[in-house]
Amino acid sequence: MTTVTVDKNICPHNHVCPLIQVCPYNAISQAKDGYPIIDEERCVGCGACVKRCPMKAMKLKSTN
Ligand code: SF4
Repeated sequence: MTTVTVDKNICPHNHVCPLIQVCPYNAISQAKDGYPIIDEERCVGCGACVKRCPMKAMKLKSTN
């Protein structure tokens, strides 16, 4: 299974995350600290957020 992780060293977590609107599976929300949260139950690893993150902070990861 593939999902994504957020590189917290890259994400500036100081703005509304544009990827919330990008994810076709509604798998991204945003925490109070500004980092995106990935719902791994919903994420299908399509990679749309990886391509669209302006900071290149999202990385695909294999979970098995
Ligand atoms: S990889 Fe696709 S399904 Fe998973 S969070 Fe990113 S846009 Fe959503």
